[in-house]
Amino acid sequence: MTARTMFTSRAVTRPVEAGSSVTCAGCGSPVKFTAKTRLWQVIANVYVDGVWDRVEHYHADCYDEVGQPYGSAA
Ligand SMILES: [Zn+2]
Repeated sequence: MTARTMFTSRAVTRPVEAGSSVTCAGCGSPVKFTAKTRLWQVIANVYVDGVWDRVEHYHADCYDEVGQPYGSAA
């Protein structure tokens, strides 16, 4: 059996950028940039069986509400 590196899913917190057009995986609403309030999003790189599968975006609040499925956002 060959040992290999298993990549695991992880999440980071980033400011929502202007022109962002992603949908929150928690509530299904767009993660929108607003000039008035700086919003934060959580970007999760999701690995399935050690292989990168997809990126999921969440509102920072929604990520907390769903129980931080990919660990606490760095
Ligand atoms: Zn949301």
